[in-house]
Amino acid sequence: ANLLYQYILRPSTTTSNRGYAAIAEARTVLEHELETIRTGGTWKGERIITSKQGPHINVDGSHGDILNFCANNYLGLSSHPQVVEAGIEALKKYGAGLSSVRFICGTQDIHKDLEQKLAQFHEREDCILYASCFDANAGLFEVLLGPDDAVLSDELNHASIIDGIRLCRAKRFRYKHMDLNDLETQLKESQSSRLRLVVTDGVFSMDGDMAPLKGICDLAEQYGAMVFIDECHATGFMGPRGRGTDELLGVMDRVHIVNSTLGKALGGAAGGYTVGPKPLIDLLRQRSRPYLFSNSLPPPVVGCATRAVELLLASNEIAQSVGDKTMRFRNKMTEAGFTISGSDHPICPVMLGDARLASLMADDMLKLGVYVIGFSYPVVPKGKARIRVQISAAHTDQDIDRAVDAFIQTGRKHGVVS
Ligand code: PLP
Repeated sequence: ANLLYQYILRPSTTTSNRGYAAIAEARTVLEHELETIRTGGTWKGERIITSKQGPHINVDGSHGDILNFCANNYLGLSSHPQVVEAGIEALKKYGAGLSSVRFICGTQDIHKDLEQKLAQFHEREDCILYASCFDANAGLFEVLLGPDDAVLSDELNHASIIDGIRLCRAKRFRYKHMDLNDLETQLKESQSSRLRLVVTDGVFSMDGDMAPLKGICDLAEQYGAMVFIDECHATGFMGPRGRGTDELLGVMDRVHIVNSTLGKALGGAAGGYTVGPKPLIDLLRQRSRPYLFSNSLPPPVVGCATRAVELLLASNEIAQSVGDKTMRFRNKMTEAGFTISGSDHPICPVMLGDARLASLMADDMLKLGVYVIGFSYPVVPKGKARIRVQISAAHTDQDIDRAVDAFIQTGRKHGVVS
């Protein structure tokens, strides 16, 4: 039988032997790479959630109700009954998906309606939807900026901005994190460029710190540059009406382009978008590669996001609902002796320093029924490991107090607080 297989049944040619050798070699290389990650202590495991997203979840391998303190579900809309209902209605009326990109046969009235509502929400001329904000960031810079132009980017901007900038042919200038003096130096150096764009996260997701947008806009105006912000961690809850960091800092009319996500505060399903001047949005529809070459947002996703935006347009109450809870957590943790970085943002990084400590403490927190995650290098700088807590409007005061108690208990066990 062996001979039969070897000489007759097996599609044995020199080429397939080489193919086998190639994949075997690749396996060895991949296993080696995986081992490096494991031994480096930066392996990212995935805990399995067996319920819907919310402040209280079920986690495979843990008993009962677990408090979730690490979702970007800032407004608690991810499983909000009205948001879910709108998704079901859209699914029934408009189907599961479009099987098309937007310009072929993938644009429904609900896509246009959501774009119009997002433009209205951000008080910008027009809006274009993408499958994600990662795509919005990947698709913007290449279309707007050419070799005669320059992009000036904060060194700690999100990975998707960095990738998007890599794809464009503009000259690149990187300024030190939130450093206006360094930005000014780079603006002076890039003076000869045709168009210039200053690019920053509105809120930086690892530290919960906020870009100094007023200073950035002042400098941009002085040197004739445009301003772009990524508002993924601000849309829906920063500013009196939740419009974002630009509203909070009083510069809505001085920031020219905003990218943001539907995958965090605005229902959490998926999707991203750009809002800005109409000619830019028109050109993105013609040229932006992630828009032209990727499927339309599915109707249920559009339905959920639309209802989330409608809720925020109808009342400022939801946008305001996370502020007090954030302060409760920050104050109680600081009183207990923890160091929380960032600026009054629901991202509350509990600074621990050591990567192993952050990971062990997060495991112990889960044993006490609180789901949090340790962040270490390369996601944050070496020696600055932390547990990043994120507060949601859906957390009750009791939930927050329970989390603080669990932090105190595990913090004492590991000698972080006394
Ligand atoms: N920009 C920032 C600052 C983010 O934090 C994220 C998500 O982690 C993204 C962009 C990407 O957003 P999306 O999940 O919609 O692709």
